[in-house]
Amino acid sequence: MSLSKLAEFGTRHVARGIGRLATEVIESGSGSYVTMASGRKMLDFTCGIGVANLGHCHPAVTKAAQAQVAKMVHAQVNIAFQRPYLELIQSLLPIMPHKSLDTFFFWNSGSEAVEAAVKLARHATKKPNIIVMQGSYHGRTFGTMAMTRSKTVYSENYSPLMPGVFAVPFPYCAQCSIAKRCDGKYNSENCCMDPVEQLELLLKRETAPSDTAAIFIEPVLGEGGYVPVVPAYLKRVREICDKHNILLVADEVQSGFGRTGKMFAIEHYGVRPDILVMAKGIANGFPLSGIVSRKELMDMQKPGSMGGTYAGNAVSCAAGIGVAQAFKDENILENVNVRGKEMMDMLKQAKKDFPDVVYDVRGLGLMLACEFVGGKSFASKVQAKCMENDMLILTTSIYDTLRFIPPLNITKEDMAKGCDIIRKAIEEVAA
Ligand code: PMP
Repeated sequence: MSLSKLAEFGTRHVARGIGRLATEVIESGSGSYVTMASGRKMLDFTCGIGVANLGHCHPAVTKAAQAQVAKMVHAQVNIAFQRPYLELIQSLLPIMPHKSLDTFFFWNSGSEAVEAAVKLARHATKKPNIIVMQGSYHGRTFGTMAMTRSKTVYSENYSPLMPGVFAVPFPYCAQCSIAKRCDGKYNSENCCMDPVEQLELLLKRETAPSDTAAIFIEPVLGEGGYVPVVPAYLKRVREICDKHNILLVADEVQSGFGRTGKMFAIEHYGVRPDILVMAKGIANGFPLSGIVSRKELMDMQKPGSMGGTYAGNAVSCAAGIGVAQAFKDENILENVNVRGKEMMDMLKQAKKDFPDVVYDVRGLGLMLACEFVGGKSFASKVQAKCMENDMLILTTSIYDTLRFIPPLNITKEDMAKGCDIIRKAIEEVAA
């Protein structure tokens, strides 16, 4: 089929409900670049939305997966243990953000893992309700759709949603009208919309602690704006959870596996989650997700009540082992921090140079964002200019914001090239 026919075919036969950034056809990917069927090579600052974090077709991952394909593809988790599944746990145990997180199960997608965390929280606490943050993204499946609060498109016309989900404000100083009074840092004394107070009020007004199983939080709000949570807030949430026997669930689907310069974003905060949700970067593109918690909670679930046909697929687990090996061998986290600083320096400079266009720059490691002065669609204009210059970048769902998700092992040269394209695009839009 000719190139133009291929794209036409896609537009005709692929469901419209799947939104798309470009109508081009991707043929292959290698490292920080993807190559389109047209031969056009594009610098990829999306990593397939934070998935191919070690770059496309990382050799250690490809090799591990290829070897497993030749051995066994499907070894169904409800039939017997399988070697890659167990070896993946072995390689994950030492990098868990807290030693209490020692019991795992794996799924395919982030949404499934989030739902598994809901089931675990309900079962372990014997309580029905959960609390999520406004602006959060937890998925598009039936259960997670009710938890996702970043954009109405995900739930519009799909109601009624799963009941028992309550939402509280996520502290977002850049958008807070009184941010100046607390110097951009969360400070309960000065804040008329104190998010801790909002949470405490919710527990008094709408869902009693005795009915509340868990609080779900992304340590860095992903889809909802790439906003790192304020440390003081997360600590208070932990205390509230402890006080009321509520479980704290960290959704690290997007922020995990080195993205923020630490293996998991929650490590920046020194707060212990009861359940950690993982996906995306865990297997660099192979469908794999998982949750980890303490054994005593996991052991409450009845055998057979959890599982799934493809859950923890052997090839995906082997790819996950390849990812863990690459982290060990290649000093990935150091690169994240060095390249992240280079990119942040560029963004800070752009904010200084174009104050009428750039409103806020923020992020951790290589999970960075540039928020534009609202109302002028600057983000999509800058995004379009970057695309013209053979670079893929993404917006977030709200607050006219671009998010930058380059490969964690991106070279100094490619980072400089990417920064250059973005800076020029901002300049052109500002002109
Ligand atoms: N949680 C977070 C924080 C996410 O970013 C995503 C995906 N963007 C999900 C859950 C859902 O993951 P999936 O698309 O694999 O179902």
